[in-house]
Amino acid sequence: MIEVKGLSKRYGTHLAVSDANFSIKKGEVIGFLGPNGAGKSTIMNILTGYLSLTQGQVSIDGFDIMENPEEAKKRIGYLPEIPPLYIDMKVKEYLYFIYDLKKVKFPKKAHIDEIMKLIKIDNVANRLIKNLSKGYRQRVGLAQALVGNPDVLILDEPTVGLDPKQIIEIRNLISRLGKNHTIILSSHILSEIQAVCERVIIINQGRIIADDNADNLSNRLSNDCSIVARIDGSEKETLAALKGVKGVKNVMSLGCKEQGSFDFLIEPNDDVDIRKAVFECAVSKGKTILSLTSNKLSLEQVFLRLTEAGSYEEARKLLGFEDQETVEENMEETVEETSEVSQTEVKEEE
Ligand code: ADP
Ligand code: MG
Repeated sequence: MIEVKGLSKRYGTHLAVSDANFSIKKGEVIGFLGPNGAGKSTIMNILTGYLSLTQGQVSIDGFDIMENPEEAKKRIGYLPEIPPLYIDMKVKEYLYFIYDLKKVKFPKKAHIDEIMKLIKIDNVANRLIKNLSKGYRQRVGLAQALVGNPDVLILDEPTVGLDPKQIIEIRNLISRLGKNHTIILSSHILSEIQAVCERVIIINQGRIIADDNADNLSNRLSNDCSIVARIDGSEKETLAALKGVKGVKNVMSLGCKEQGSFDFLIEPNDDVDIRKAVFECAVSKGKTILSLTSNKLSLEQVFLRLTEAGSYEEARKLLGFEDQETVEENMEETVEETSEVSQTEVKEEE
């Protein structure tokens, strides 16, 4: 549905996006995750045809965004970081206006009514947008993106500035829309991405450092099925018993964290799940396991490790990828050649 190849964007001398490659299948819900300034909005603005690219190719449903912008844009609903609302208009009036702007062909009233019902803004249809709460305004922004029934929805930080209740409402709405749309949403908040998205594209300093589902990312980074067990009784005895468990490679005592018990970090051979064996071992020795936790990283930890890795190369190494360094060097050269064009472009944008 969406193909991005070798995408770069330069603002003057600043390379905001560098050699981004990804593809998104129909029906996928993808999260762009990255700290502020990573390049998320820039990529989204390019995908939606709002910003020209410096280098590379973007196609939506087979239509190139540069060569065939009308066809490509028809397939996309976009909610920019700051929704383009006309606050002196009433909700319905505004959506009718967007309908005309997009030159939609469906029956007007029925189409807009359907969207307002779906987004649950039919109760404020005749209210002025400026009198709505931030949560409602964001919903009107979403409704605007849905006008024309596009297959793809691109949502830039859709919950920023909302209170927790509103965040949950918008999130649920996005999950529902995800059932019959291809969605890309951006956020610098992990829980958000984790709650809604099937796949995560982590962006840092204009480069894609990872593209995978959250579990795989976590596995790649920690590549460890180690567990931490809190077991009552003597440290020495338990340590010896655990070392004898089949499939266990190494056991280390983490000391006493709760009176009468000790914590043990148990590392298995390869990817073996050793929880059952550890449990049986404890039972056979008359010991109680007070807690058993996986040492696996949360998406939050994955994200922090990757973005704090310092450089692209270090982040990739953390993920266990072997990259060819020449790819990046070639990129720098080719982008340089086109920088004259983008200089003029920046003037227009700023
Ligand atoms: P994000 O959405 O991930 O926070 P952006 O795509 O907005 O990041 O920005 C990426 C980088 O490009 C940042 O360093 C930002 O300062 C820069 N940038 C964004 N827009 C412009 C612009 N119009 N002119 C110059 N630099 C820009
Ligand atoms: Mg942004």
